[in-house]
Formats: sequence, C-alpha cells, structure tokens
Amino acid sequence: MNDEEIFQPQDNIEAAMAKVAETIKPTRKTNTGAEDGSTATKQVLIRTTDEDHARWKEASEKEGISLSEFIRNAANGQASEVLDCKHPPENLKWYPWGKRCTKCGLRWK
Ligand SMILES: [Zn+2]
Repeated sequence: MNDEEIFQPQDNIEAAMAKVAETIKPTRKTNTGAEDGSTATKQVLIRTTDEDHARWKEASEKEGISLSEFIRNAANGQASEVLDCKHPPENLKWYPWGKRCTKCGLRWK
C-alpha cells in the first residue's frame, strides 16, 4: 500500500466537498456573533433528513443567523454540556498550576 491509497477520501461526496473547500475562504461572517478575525478552517459534513434540514433552516432564519452558525451554536452547547464542569465554585481546589473540581475532577481553565 502506498501513501496515495492511505489518504483517499471515503466517498464521492467527501471528495467533492474537499474540492469545493479548496476554493472557499474559510471565514465566519462578522454579523453572526463570531469573534473578529476568527476563522473556520475545519469542515464537518453531516447527513440529515429533509425534515430536520428544513427545521434547522427555519430556526436559523428566525434567529437571523446562518444555518452553519446555528449548527455550530448547537454543537458547542452540547459539547459544553458533555465536557464542562457544572459544579458550583466552592468545589474548586486551587493548585499552583491551576484549579480542579473536587466533585468531577475536571480541570478549569
Ligand atoms: Zn465538577
């Protein structure tokens, strides 16, 4: 097996998206609440039903943001639910190198 075989895209859609991505400037619109100068360099190709897509699009339009921003917000909210400590600050233990929750062990930034 050579290197070309190892890095082949998994399917035609992924290959097509990668090709399109080469021509797109990876920036986020400033009117979506993104930080100034923040760039979106990663892509996530997701499959969904027509019904879910229409619903997400309607919700994003109602909020006045792009569908991409809507999906980013939803994913970031869920990531925070899964990854971030929700315990009150009195559970924090301070160390010289940072602070850590005594309940769940998560390190705070
Ligand atoms: Zn915690």
